[in-house]
Amino acid sequence: MAFLGYNNAQKITLRGMRCTSIVGALSLLTLLITAIPASAGDTAPETNKNSAAAAPSPSTNAGTLPASPDKVDTAQIKKHRMVKLTERLTTDEETLKKSCRYESDIPLTPPAKEIALTFDDGPEPIQTEYILAILKKHRVPATFFMIGEKIQTHPELVKLVQESDYALIANHSWSHPNFHDIPVEEQSLEIQKSNAISETFNTHQLFRYPYGNASCESNQLLKSMGQKIVGWHVDSCDWAFDHKGSVDLKEALSCGVLAQNRKNYLEHVISSVHAHNGGIVLMHEIHPNTLKNLDEIITRLLADGYVFKSLADDHFQKYLK
Ligand SMILES: [Zn+2]
Repeated sequence: MAFLGYNNAQKITLRGMRCTSIVGALSLLTLLITAIPASAGDTAPETNKNSAAAAPSPSTNAGTLPASPDKVDTAQIKKHRMVKLTERLTTDEETLKKSCRYESDIPLTPPAKEIALTFDDGPEPIQTEYILAILKKHRVPATFFMIGEKIQTHPELVKLVQESDYALIANHSWSHPNFHDIPVEEQSLEIQKSNAISETFNTHQLFRYPYGNASCESNQLLKSMGQKIVGWHVDSCDWAFDHKGSVDLKEALSCGVLAQNRKNYLEHVISSVHAHNGGIVLMHEIHPNTLKNLDEIITRLLADGYVFKSLADDHFQKYLK
């Protein structure tokens, strides 16, 4: 069965259809997921499995895997994603467009076989260094969307990323609020304060909204500052999988996780990238599933012929708003 990503679900058209509840929305998704025909791109070729098996472990080549944080709060992101899914399914596209709420969504098909990795919500001690080591090992670029408060607390980590040949630094607000829940004045402060602390190293003027949730006023402010809004094509959904690498049914539906991948975060990411044939990939520094699997994810995708590019690359400019 083919992977059904959120954007795909939206495209297949739910336009004009109305659901009165989350249950209704999820039922629709279930129907859509079971209705999608199989495609050749969903299964990793045998050669990828061989490559993955032969890949050196990150613990010997990219430093020691950091201990998983005791508690990563995923409740907020789960809540906001469900609200978004419900709004997407119950509101017509024109109304949503006028509201500017989901400016981060990218309607364009990603560049074929090209990937831009992005890591949100850092910097974090040990974790940032670990990810940098994996990028260096594979010589692949990535962008770190950092939170202003954490930049202030960990300038040494910012310096490490800045000095890396493989990473860009970008803006992810000052304190990571949901912009749909705070007044315009606060939104403005979140953007301007984070810009003040990060402008010297946010060399490509990139901004990503927390949870991808935008507003017309903030979009306008970012444009006036010359900042580009960065969304994603592929959500790794590292936040949806638990510490054992499993995902419950509700999150599986909202993330488009195939039944056979509900206990396999690695295969979910690989099949999601295959389903989109590349694009901007959203991951988080703070989620252990990403840390545990990043080395193998990159190994597998390289073996599958994907090329990793920076968001600064010309090919990715048209996906930034
Ligand atoms: Zn975030």
